[in-house]
Amino acid sequence: QTIGDNLDATVVAHPDREALVDVASGRRWTYTEFLHDVDALALALLDAGVATGDRVGIWAPNCPEWTLTQYATAKIGAILVNINPAYRSHELKYVLGQAGITTLIAAPKFKTSNYARMIEQVRGECPDLARVVLIGETSWSDLADAGAKALAAEGGRERLAAVQKSLKNTDAINIQYTSGTTGFPKGATLSHRNILNNGFFVGELCSYTAEDRVCIPVPFYHCFGMVMGNLACTSHGATMVIPAPGFDAALTLQSVVDERCTSLYGVPTMFIAELALPDFDRYDLTSLRTGIMAGSPCPEHTMRQVMERMHMEEVSICYGMTETSPVSLQTRKNDTVEQRTQTVGRVGPHLVMVVDPVTYEPVKRGEPGELCTKGYSVMLGYWNQDDKSAEAIVDGWMHTGDIAAMDDDGYVAITGRIKDMVIRGGENIYPREIEEFLYNHPDIVDAQVIGVPDEKYGEELMACVRMIDGAEPLTVESLRAYCGGKLAHYKVPRYVRVMDEFPMTVTGKIRKIDLREEAPQYMK
Ligand code: ATP
Ligand code: MG
Repeated sequence: QTIGDNLDATVVAHPDREALVDVASGRRWTYTEFLHDVDALALALLDAGVATGDRVGIWAPNCPEWTLTQYATAKIGAILVNINPAYRSHELKYVLGQAGITTLIAAPKFKTSNYARMIEQVRGECPDLARVVLIGETSWSDLADAGAKALAAEGGRERLAAVQKSLKNTDAINIQYTSGTTGFPKGATLSHRNILNNGFFVGELCSYTAEDRVCIPVPFYHCFGMVMGNLACTSHGATMVIPAPGFDAALTLQSVVDERCTSLYGVPTMFIAELALPDFDRYDLTSLRTGIMAGSPCPEHTMRQVMERMHMEEVSICYGMTETSPVSLQTRKNDTVEQRTQTVGRVGPHLVMVVDPVTYEPVKRGEPGELCTKGYSVMLGYWNQDDKSAEAIVDGWMHTGDIAAMDDDGYVAITGRIKDMVIRGGENIYPREIEEFLYNHPDIVDAQVIGVPDEKYGEELMACVRMIDGAEPLTVESLRAYCGGKLAHYKVPRYVRVMDEFPMTVTGKIRKIDLREEAPQYMK
């Protein structure tokens, strides 16, 4: 099955159920209406000259047109290229060129970003770019109108069906750039089979049915939104609810209340922001049952609050990466709080996983090594970067670059990233372990530990921390006193930096690379 075939099947099964709700504009689509608009847009793109295999870029915050474009491109086998809404003209030019985008669909502007102007700035230097469609402007409405007419005209539906039938589910359908936590983002090329299966199985493990209503504040630009959100919903007949174009804690909770959502997504920092709203108790969240927290580790007290105060008893922790469509490990409904915070769950259906240092010989249970995944979810490769692809995928095994240990029940704990590992005086240190230790400090909200250069030891540790309001800022002395006797001496950070906020990627991850660059000024 291709993504288009799967959507068609859902519409047959649940024609009148709601597919999509855009809270900001109040617009709603049933599955029948949604499919109509998807098919119209697909036909319009086809008639405008977009062929199977062509790259169509989408550059917008979350909005219904993003979702319509996602499914319309899948129907005709055009490769959707997700462009980060935080990009500026320089990065836009890179992606347009790197992926060879011929059609760009974009929001004219969002917050302080004037996308339309940035596109004009680079357009002359992007010879492949043949068309620009601006959402909400005449270029979009003209396209939508032309598509609706073509679909209603004789032979319109048949033309679209013929193209859809010619597609294979192993074809590339999507290029997604990684978050860029450890360096410059790489374009993972994914097939229908990769992401449709992944969305479906994530939805299965969340027990989605057509009764579910899923609140999606995470970016569609990233696989969290478009696969674990949109594809998990459409493969189960569930409803996609867009609370706002960008993340807003209050609007997210209000949407859960108004739309009676059963599931809520977020990275840990989003849940922390929601729980910290001064009027949190005013929101009636009793409709919630489940949700997904992913992307980075979740502190234990946050998990307890999500399960109790937000009523998400079944919340899933997912582990994955863009290159594996993304999810490969997920907790199950009845797992304990400890399993949800100390591990990222068990391997998903039809995937295999080993923890392996260098060879594929699995290390002993409980011992750390590099996590490797194999199965339907492994990407086709990085777009136009064969050398990087060959490094990442060896004999079908995706090398994640994450250090993990698997327990006897198959639950996997992520203990660090190979690139984050700090070597101090010959000792390997995984910053993650120290971060978790610092989470337990009563005055610390969030902690990030990085390695900084040191003449004597090669590297030393710096703890970057955010304090709760009104707390005494942490100092090297108070940190040392706190760690004393509990952490091996070489794991006690030498430097402390107290911060109000951490630099973030749009996917809600902390950019350690920035913390490392800024570190020298705080080394005293
Ligand atoms: P880049 O590859 O560009 O440096 P990135 O790896 O952060 O960026 P993504 O593909 O968005 O880009 O993220 C995948 C990574 O996120 C994983 O390799 C892992 O390090 C981390 N991760 C994902 N889920 C979890 C989780 N539940 N707990 C801890 N870490 C996680
Ligand atoms: Mg990565």
